[in-house]
Amino acid sequence: MRRIFNFSAGPAILPVSVLEEASRGVLDINGTGMSILEVSHRGKVYDPIHAEAQANLLSVLGLSSDDYAVCLLGGGASLQFTMLPMNFLQTGQTADYVDTGEWSAKALKEAKRFGTANVVASSKATNYDRIPKDLSFTPGARYAHVTTNNTIEGTQWAGLPDTNGVPLTADMSSDIFAVNRDFSKFGLFYAGAQKNAGPAGVTMIVARRDFLETANKDLPPMLSYAVQAEKESLFNTPPVFPIYVLNLVLKWIQAEGGVAALDARNRGKAAVLYDALDAAPDFYQPTVADKADRSLMNVTWRLADESLEAELLAEAKKRDMDGLKGHRNVGGFRASIYNAFPVEGVQALAELLTEFGHKKG
Ligand code: PMP
Repeated sequence: MRRIFNFSAGPAILPVSVLEEASRGVLDINGTGMSILEVSHRGKVYDPIHAEAQANLLSVLGLSSDDYAVCLLGGGASLQFTMLPMNFLQTGQTADYVDTGEWSAKALKEAKRFGTANVVASSKATNYDRIPKDLSFTPGARYAHVTTNNTIEGTQWAGLPDTNGVPLTADMSSDIFAVNRDFSKFGLFYAGAQKNAGPAGVTMIVARRDFLETANKDLPPMLSYAVQAEKESLFNTPPVFPIYVLNLVLKWIQAEGGVAALDARNRGKAAVLYDALDAAPDFYQPTVADKADRSLMNVTWRLADESLEAELLAEAKKRDMDGLKGHRNVGGFRASIYNAFPVEGVQALAELLTEFGHKKG
């Protein structure tokens, strides 16, 4: 099987062993003579997969099902921008948002439909080149919202903010299972699967049960976390195939040593690229102001001489590398190096950057 170095920001690279097992499951799931695409979502083939995916999800995050509920829903992380305030915010109430990038801004915009969305801090004025520090949250706010990794801008929260008792919520779409955080600090977090966890089509929501109890009650059932959690994400037909692949990825994470082991590996991978960029500061310009805010997942940079961009991309393509063009709104370059991205690919890109810098610089 031919595999190139796919630096796509998402949907993104998956472990080869997962792709192989998923292709077997597409033809015949567990020797049943049926494809995973053909079985009922309320039958004995899928039941254990659905239950296992939820249990494995909590287990790799170090959380207990006594304290946390899991929902596996369609609609992408973008639907969660709406569902979170719909479930927890009402007119006259405040939610705190930290505006660290385009995705944070979209989440914030949705919250404004339901109540007062207070911008605790924003790095928009400096093109989202940093994570704001020294934040002060609103006493009594319904929740605080952060984006743990800013996929487009290449910044990431190294630690978690102290919210002074306000329940912390997060969009973890681009760093779930890749950074070892204390997940018990969160009231709720969500993540689309298509970067570190599986194919597009399923979004994971993990909610602390006592926080969930405070959710608004009178909601359309499909949009109510309480209903979805009570029905174990089987209120309607769930995204069966994405959940099946998510479960394979979760088993792969466990076999690799868990989130702590992947976190260590990811730090090593990111350092290889940042070192190569930092070695040629006149040639490569990092887009993130403070090194402490650099993303381990999405490494972003520009060329001092932007006229060389096409040439660098063409050289990368010759070396079997794809997906390095920066997001259309910010330009430059972006190397997305999620959990399944191999260290050899990172080394190959670092070599290319060093050689190209020497030749052209
Ligand atoms: N949040 C972040 C941090 C993202 O990177 C993305 C893009 N995948 C989204 C939200 C939107 O996700 P979706 O396309 O699943 O709605």
